[in-house]
Amino acid sequence: MVPRGAGSGLSGGATAAGSQLVVSTERLNRIIEVSPLDGVAVVEPGVINAELNSHLEPYGLFYAPDPASFEISSIGGNIATNAGGLRCAKYGVTRESVLALDVVLADGSLISVGHRSIKGVTGLDLTSLFVGSEGVLGIVVGATLRLHPIPVARKTLTAFFDSTAEGAEGLAAITLSPVRPAAVEFFDTPSLANIDEHSGTALRQRGAALILIEIDGYGIDEQAADLSSALALAGARVTTETEAEAIRFWELRRHGRGLPHGHWFIGEDIAVPKSQLLKVYEAFPSLEERFGVEVSAVSHAGDGNLHPLLTQEIGSGGDPAHPPASLRDAATELVRIALALGGTVTGEHGVGTIKRDWAALELSSRSLQAQRAIKASLDPNQLLNPGKAF
Ligand SMILES: Cc1cc2nc3c(=O)[nH]c(=O)nc-3n(C[C@H](O)[C@H](O)[C@H](O)COP(=O)(O)OP(=O)(O)OC[C@H]3O[C@@H](n4cnc5c(N)ncnc54)[C@H](O)[C@@H]3O)c2cc1C
Repeated sequence: MVPRGAGSGLSGGATAAGSQLVVSTERLNRIIEVSPLDGVAVVEPGVINAELNSHLEPYGLFYAPDPASFEISSIGGNIATNAGGLRCAKYGVTRESVLALDVVLADGSLISVGHRSIKGVTGLDLTSLFVGSEGVLGIVVGATLRLHPIPVARKTLTAFFDSTAEGAEGLAAITLSPVRPAAVEFFDTPSLANIDEHSGTALRQRGAALILIEIDGYGIDEQAADLSSALALAGARVTTETEAEAIRFWELRRHGRGLPHGHWFIGEDIAVPKSQLLKVYEAFPSLEERFGVEVSAVSHAGDGNLHPLLTQEIGSGGDPAHPPASLRDAATELVRIALALGGTVTGEHGVGTIKRDWAALELSSRSLQAQRAIKASLDPNQLLNPGKAF
């Protein structure tokens, strides 16, 4: 049985093969309750992330996890992948916003785990275990989600730099400042060029690297001033964007990039401690030279999560359906670099089917053994999402 939300996952986790049965949550789409006093919403898993936030707006509340796919992905899928997104820099990933879950186990039993209260430490934390478990432990059929007040103000700042390296240094200035932006997104030089090519913008004329920042909450002008000074000291040209420009920039972040025609490609989702981000970018030229590929990356830099794009020209006679081994080898090498820097093979997309080889590089055999034992205790017949995650 393959649990499936909206099918927007990027790791093949919701894909069925052979005689497998897809269990779709598409029609489990009710928002059951919003409680401003408890600061929670109780929802079914098929609710689309953006629809929940539209529903919450009249209450002055919002649900923070905002994967770039927020308009098309479901809360159940977000929970099963422990989805991240842009606002994680301040509000954390999905796990930080899930208080309790109703889960159907492989034997058909329904269990409720977690607490509606913010605190609650009775027993093992099974809620956290189910969050990010990619549908291999149970099917989430209900969720109690933590909400936040909609910030009184939001502002978007852009900080352009003369090189990717300077931009990456600028990220440290943000971390070391007292301001905690809601979102900190980083674009290296080729990513800006890519957006210009596909969206008709002229970002490269403004600089060779960009940090796109959203700040929110009280004291917004003080936050903007403090952050602007810190970034200017790091060599940035900082602009507080108008509301219309801000909308445009976030739209470009979510949808502005394109895939180069006539190229094979692999998109990665590595994450490293924030202090190591620059080292990942510094590794790109040698990867390009060694494997004959091109590498660029946008990052959710506020939490060290990079989305490198590795491409290789197909060339005449090449088969688009069969990328050369060198492309995968380059991607594997990048994964190894992330691991050596204290990072992980997947920051937010999950292992699914396509990252199982890479997950094996990260998880020790004892850790894998423990995970398989947990799976066996909940699903001894391996009915749920076989072949996924580990
Ligand atoms: C353009 C684009 C941008 C994206 N940006 C981001 C981003 O910024 N951050 C991010 O984290 N991801 C991002 N993603 C990936 C994807 O949208 C997320 O992984 C999302 O959480 C998947 O939700 P879904 O409802 O589509 O789940 P699906 O794709 O249907 O399923 C994903 C996994 O969850 C399991 N699952 C689904 N529902 C349940 C359930 N009720 N119970 C148990 N298991 C379940 C499935 O078996 C599968 O393993 C992006 C995807 C696209 C296409």
